Amino acid sequence: MSFLESPIQYVKGVGPKRATLLGRLNIRTVRDALFYLPYRYEDRRNLKKICDVIYGNLETVKGKVISMNMTELHPKQQRRLTIFELHISDGTGIIKAKWFNQAYMKNNFQKGQELVITGTVKPSYYGGLEIVNPEYEVIEEDSSFIHTSRIVPIYRATEGISARVLRGIMHNILTTCIDQIVDPLPEYIRLSYNLPGLSESIHNCHFPPGDADVHVFNSGISPYHRRLYFDEIFNLEIGVAKIKNGQIREKGISFNPEGRLVNELLKRLDFDLTVAQKRVFKEILEDMRKPFPMNRLIQGDVGCGKTIIALMAMLTAVESGYQTAMMAPTEILAEQHYINMHRLVEDLGLKICLLCSSQKEKPIEEIARGEIDIIIGTHAIIQEGIRFKKLGLIVIDEQHRFGVMQRSALRKKGKNPDVLVMTATPIPRTLAMTVYGDLDYSIIDELPPNRKPVVTRVFKEEQKQLIYRKIREEISKGRQVYVVYPVIEESENHDLKSAITGKERLEQIFPGLRIGLVHGKMKAQERESVMLAFKGGEIDILVSTTVIEVGVDVPNATLMLIVHAERFGLAQLHQLRGRVGRGGDQSFCYFLAYEPLSDEARRRLAVMEKSSDGFVIAEEDLNIRGPGEFFGTRQSGMPDLKIASIVRDVDLVDIARREAFKIIDADPELEGFPLLKNAVECFWKGKIDIFKTV
Ligand code: ADP
Ligand code: MG
Repeated sequence: MSFLESPIQYVKGVGPKRATLLGRLNIRTVRDALFYLPYRYEDRRNLKKICDVIYGNLETVKGKVISMNMTELHPKQQRRLTIFELHISDGTGIIKAKWFNQAYMKNNFQKGQELVITGTVKPSYYGGLEIVNPEYEVIEEDSSFIHTSRIVPIYRATEGISARVLRGIMHNILTTCIDQIVDPLPEYIRLSYNLPGLSESIHNCHFPPGDADVHVFNSGISPYHRRLYFDEIFNLEIGVAKIKNGQIREKGISFNPEGRLVNELLKRLDFDLTVAQKRVFKEILEDMRKPFPMNRLIQGDVGCGKTIIALMAMLTAVESGYQTAMMAPTEILAEQHYINMHRLVEDLGLKICLLCSSQKEKPIEEIARGEIDIIIGTHAIIQEGIRFKKLGLIVIDEQHRFGVMQRSALRKKGKNPDVLVMTATPIPRTLAMTVYGDLDYSIIDELPPNRKPVVTRVFKEEQKQLIYRKIREEISKGRQVYVVYPVIEESENHDLKSAITGKERLEQIFPGLRIGLVHGKMKAQERESVMLAFKGGEIDILVSTTVIEVGVDVPNATLMLIVHAERFGLAQLHQLRGRVGRGGDQSFCYFLAYEPLSDEARRRLAVMEKSSDGFVIAEEDLNIRGPGEFFGTRQSGMPDLKIASIVRDVDLVDIARREAFKIIDADPELEGFPLLKNAVECFWKGKIDIFKTV
């Protein structure tokens, strides 16, 4: 074990107590500390004469302690206050350093001592200059400046360990162990991309060189930062390359049907496939024919027609004599797919069933005996106790709620079945390849023809009448309307309008109309019959919660009203809006927003009014929410990136990916790169047994 792996406790200045506190910052070993980077830097290089400092500025001055002074206010009362003051002079003026309720400070100083102090200069109550709670550094013979007179790293601290103490510890670590850091990155990669060495980079990220540009460091884009980001991303991509490489060597099913079922299906549709749909299906078909398992991601904005492509793949599997399962993230979506597909499928002479946890009688036996060809369901599909006779293809719809682990659980339900994953999350290709690293990638980048962008408008409470008029107008044209609420019922915990009360209100406002209600707490059967009625045109207004967010498809619905739109996130609004605009008619999405609106909410709604492009909306969403939330990387099963960001550092992702795949292609076990192998194992620890050689 190298020194880098040793517990932080044994570092000079740490000890057991501080080690526990550092544990809260996830610093347990020396290595952890090395990669605990400052979150910002302060430029304290510019020593000023005391006569030149400016009120309100962060200033650094040097001088001698000419007097010390302790004052105690309200000594008899509970709220006692001690003030410790130093008077410091450099010959051009005097400045006070002041600490409240830190009487022990007096032990750190002596009269006549030379000091550097840094902090924001304020006018003192009694006249003159002062700095409250300054950073300070006593100048001694051999003193190296850590806290002042340089670009100073600022670390996120935790209770019991100040930023100053943390900085001291970091400095100790770096001076003792910087020589022991060995660079695992192959030198040819380092040289071809002009990356600085590892130890140099670590050192400089903590204590930037004297001539550094503090802004570059504060933006986290110094060459040293980027080198460390690169390493992290490279470790990630090596793992991804390993997973991919392993898949290619696995044996899978080679499907080889004539395409009779698919052709039958296409004949029954009242539309032609778009060019993009055809291209993507061809890619799927090529995968399915190959003798190793398909692992493909289909990305396409809401409404682009992913479902039909999935169904075509499923029919391909069935025609070859296999069962196929489609897994959706919610019951309502599974029910929806079932409703949409079962007639088409049964007309082709096939058997289809629904499988959700809330069903009382699950068709477990029939599935196990292989009597059912197509199984549509939720997580229930991967539960214990569900067995297939011959599972050949799994489709996962709206993938962002499933992760690598769940996919692999699914795969074990058959003998290496093909896997097709569909998502509406619009992410750039490189990122998709990383977040969904074990998957190949296809995109449906075209909407069916004659789709008009959904007219989107924000309304205030006073404008409700306009909305009601529009609802009447659409319904009188034979169209249908969604009204979406953020919550199911009213509650003392919030003052939000709810679906249940909303429905009652709407029944009063529109006495002649047929109004239905769906939400997550209803029984599946009830919900299914309401959805069926809505799809069949027997309901004019469907009141719901966000259970209809993904996948629901009723092309005759042309108006959606979202109540409390200010409470929804961008991705959610985009998904919800995707429920309208699915037929040839002009559709509308109205947002009813309640004051007070936060700036962020205002921004979200403005983005929605302006754009219907999933990519544009996603970009804005990324800015607002950050990548972790956005991609659902938390659930993706990948190790976390601690310092790099696949969004900010997307150029590094490209390079790292290319180089990682090259190395793994040539040397899958990294036998020629022992240091790198070790670094990657450390990074992926336990997450996936990617380095297990059978
Ligand atoms: P999503 O990609 O969001 O899952 P769907 O698969 O639900 O989209 O398709 C949206 C709607 O578009 C459905 O009503 C579907 O029947 C219809 N559709 C799909 N492909 C085409 C096409 N090529 N031309 C016209 N309509 C299509
Ligand atoms: Mg869909």
